[in-house]
Amino acid sequence: MERKIGDLTVSIDRDLCIGSGNCVKIAPEVFVLDETSTTAFRDGELSCDRDRLIEACRVCPTNALRCVDDTGNTLAPEEG
Ligand code: SF4
Repeated sequence: MERKIGDLTVSIDRDLCIGSGNCVKIAPEVFVLDETSTTAFRDGELSCDRDRLIEACRVCPTNALRCVDDTGNTLAPEEG
């Protein structure tokens, strides 16, 4: 699943999510753990401080979260 939030496109690979909750702690207005302890997007219009959203994607231990900006730059997961 994928959402556009500001200039960022965020996608969740739910098959990779292990339910650690790291992303939910940092950006609770965007991410929520569903009944299977798998991250999903919250319903409705999503907004979040840009840097915090990027950080929330970067802290995922399994790289289940991808964040790409309007120019195609991948901001999360971090490379290297
Ligand atoms: S940080 Fe990653 S593994 Fe943890 S709940 Fe979020 S998407 Fe799932």
